[in-house]
Amino acid sequence: MCGIIGIVANSPVNQLLFDGLTLLQHRGQDAAGILTCEDQRLFLRKENGLVKDVFHTRHMRQLFGNMGIGHVRYPTAGCDSSAEAQPFYVNAPFGIALGHNGNLTNVDELRASVKQTDHRHINTNSDSEVLLNVFAHELAATAGDEPAVEDVFAAISGVHRRVKGAYAVIGLIAGRGIFAFRDPSGIRPVCFGQRQTESGFTEYMIASESVAIEASDFELIRDLAPGEAIFITTDGQVSLKQCAEHAQYTPCIFEYVYLARPDSIIDDVSVYRARMRMGERLAAKIMREWPDHDIDVVIPIPDTSRTAALEIAVSMNLKYREGFVKNRYIARTFIMPGQAQRKRSVRQKLNAIDLEFRGKNVLLVDDSIVRGTTSSEIIRMAREAGANKVYLASAAPPVRYPNVYGIDMPAATEFVAHDRNVEEIRAAIGADYLIYQDLDDLIESVRVGNPSLKAFDCSCFTGEYVTGDVDQAYLDGVADKRNDKAKSDSGRSRDIVAVGLYNVQ
Ligand code: AMP
Repeated sequence: MCGIIGIVANSPVNQLLFDGLTLLQHRGQDAAGILTCEDQRLFLRKENGLVKDVFHTRHMRQLFGNMGIGHVRYPTAGCDSSAEAQPFYVNAPFGIALGHNGNLTNVDELRASVKQTDHRHINTNSDSEVLLNVFAHELAATAGDEPAVEDVFAAISGVHRRVKGAYAVIGLIAGRGIFAFRDPSGIRPVCFGQRQTESGFTEYMIASESVAIEASDFELIRDLAPGEAIFITTDGQVSLKQCAEHAQYTPCIFEYVYLARPDSIIDDVSVYRARMRMGERLAAKIMREWPDHDIDVVIPIPDTSRTAALEIAVSMNLKYREGFVKNRYIARTFIMPGQAQRKRSVRQKLNAIDLEFRGKNVLLVDDSIVRGTTSSEIIRMAREAGANKVYLASAAPPVRYPNVYGIDMPAATEFVAHDRNVEEIRAAIGADYLIYQDLDDLIESVRVGNPSLKAFDCSCFTGEYVTGDVDQAYLDGVADKRNDKAKSDSGRSRDIVAVGLYNVQ
């Protein structure tokens, strides 16, 4: 998972891009990049680190121009070099830069065809660089001396024909404009908004999530549809086109469970309201299955589960208490290589307030249970804080299958729910009672916000992959890259800066 942003304005965009990326920081903390354009010149700064650490005043001063794109990268296995920070750049044709959120499922085949048929060079392991080169090849094949809007759309149609998987893309063509598109299944989100300057120029922002648009004082217009593309010229002319032959709307349901900020609206569904409904439906299930429960208090495992936990408490007429305090200066635990390090990190991140636990039967609520490391450590902490009984509710169903569409999840065998039923998971994490959301309830929690959404990508719960091209051999390859050993072996850094483009120092 990553965050993308693009802006066309009539004053410098460097600060707006920086602020927008900061609003998307939750989508990726591994690396950040901004590329701006003034006339025909491009300016790039990208590096590993948080937005606030990558861009210093001296970098910002050199990111000239009224048009630009930005990216925050989420760490995935084998992707640890700053050369793989985005946006990527190719000089031919026309000077193109691109950033991508998602994961391509036919990347090996694409890598081969880019080399052997398109005769283009790929310098990193990143699938986004492959995607950029496919787009560049397609644009070179359609455009004449100048890339017209229709050429850009034809190139995007070419990308849709060749590329499989999840891709929400932001791109820039030097001196011409910015473009964005969404894969034909609409798995990862992209939306756009506008605002009027005093001089009457309409400025545009494209972003992964509406929070970046609204908090930057732009007005949200809408999401891109699956397969749809947008092109905005430097002078603010907007064109939209459906570029996919067979588009289907199957957005990733995990965006609503965990990935997105609650104050975002994705595909016309408020993430916050969806999480509230997850809480209501889970409460109804608890009351159905355990009418004579003895829960004294509901306690969220911060931060994401708060919204659902509060609704569980309200629906069940129970007390809601913040029993854990989070140290917000600790890095996320999930991607840390090695189980011991992960456990230690949970302890550093969360601390229990004993008086909320002592002598009580507590219902802890998490948004999802993946490895189970967080859950088992937290259950232990709740007991140490004096809890009588420790129950756990998960706002999502058991995560059992790898995500191949851009969420870094462990190898399937590392999921606590792998080959275990609910009772076995309960025993493994040491809870006195465990309840999961049903998938139908999760889907309805989101769908109520936009009934026109008929289906979602729920692959991490069902093992059914909406793009239809994911087979066991592919999943075995994913498992090899994602297990703890592979992650600890991939610490090698190859810092080669993007070829041919001035990287602002
Ligand atoms: P665990 O069960 O220990 O693997 O951790 C589950 C917790 O990690 C949940 O509370 C989620 O908030 C969070 N989580 C779920 N998926 C991811 C992910 N792909 N990356 C980082 N954190 C995640």
